[in-house]
Amino acid sequence: MVKDPKVNGFKCPSSPSHASEGLLFGVVLRDTTRNSVAYLKHTTPITENLLASVHPVRPEEVFRVAGQCVEKQCKHFDGAHCRLAHRIVEVLEPVVDSLPRCMIRPTCRWWAEQGASACFRCPSIITCDVSPSAKLAEAANPEAKLKEPDPEVSPRII
Ligand code: SF4
Ligand code: SF4
Repeated sequence: MVKDPKVNGFKCPSSPSHASEGLLFGVVLRDTTRNSVAYLKHTTPITENLLASVHPVRPEEVFRVAGQCVEKQCKHFDGAHCRLAHRIVEVLEPVVDSLPRCMIRPTCRWWAEQGASACFRCPSIITCDVSPSAKLAEAANPEAKLKEPDPEVSPRII
């Protein structure tokens, strides 16, 4: 049964591999033109063996891990919302036009705050991107300024 995120807290869909109770939910597929996340049919708890299986690559270069959103301990948290999710929607172009079949959606903070707009861009997110595009670097910059929220866009709140 999915835990209520309003009670148990939201998951961060771009968590470090050592996140508490981390779940693998996506794998980065690389090709010559672009990288894209394949969403798994089932989440898998992160284990030492799983992390070791991609050595010497850093797990965050190939795995998308959902861990607890650490809120005030995160440089992207503004006290109420995730500014990273906001910037991703503001800066990046959509890469898909339908919702990925993503197993963590019911507890995902990005979905809760930015709705489908976050999901349409989510497959292009690599937690540790060693050669990010200029736009991805901008989206990941916690110092970057945000525009005022668009009143036409209603954030989805679970
Ligand atoms: S504030 Fe955003 S980036 Fe930070 S842990 Fe939470 S969901 Fe992840
Ligand atoms: S933003 Fe959407 S696709 Fe990405 S992890 Fe959250 S629910 Fe899944």
